[in-house]
Amino acid sequence: MCCSALEIAELKKPAGPLCKNCRHASGCAIYDDRPQVCRDFECEWLTRRDLSRRFRPDLAGVILMEDADSDEYRAVCAPEKPMAWRQPQIFAHLVAAAKSGRVVVAKAGLMSWRIHASGAWSVTV
Ligand code: SF4
Repeated sequence: MCCSALEIAELKKPAGPLCKNCRHASGCAIYDDRPQVCRDFECEWLTRRDLSRRFRPDLAGVILMEDADSDEYRAVCAPEKPMAWRQPQIFAHLVAAAKSGRVVVAKAGLMSWRIHASGAWSVTV
């Protein structure tokens, strides 16, 4: 899912379409030579073993992740599930992160929403 939902500047890949190097049957066709950003990326599902199985990106339709460039906590949705961040368990998780002081943003392609500690949310530009 991270090979489709995320923008990867090094590959000139926009958020949404599947990376041209991704093969459904065998995975990354350039695995040994993949960019460093692909080597380094770990979503929160990989790093937080206390998360419920419902948070697994391919099940939830959402990648939960830190964005190192912006310091935002992000919920990046699968292209076919742009509002997956509104699922009650995911949304509660995002509001909890906002309450802890994080800047929380849900993204789906070019759309993005800021989630506030109050539980309100607003479209961002
Ligand atoms: S280069 Fe490989 S690991 Fe990186 S996004 Fe493309 S398919 Fe995925």
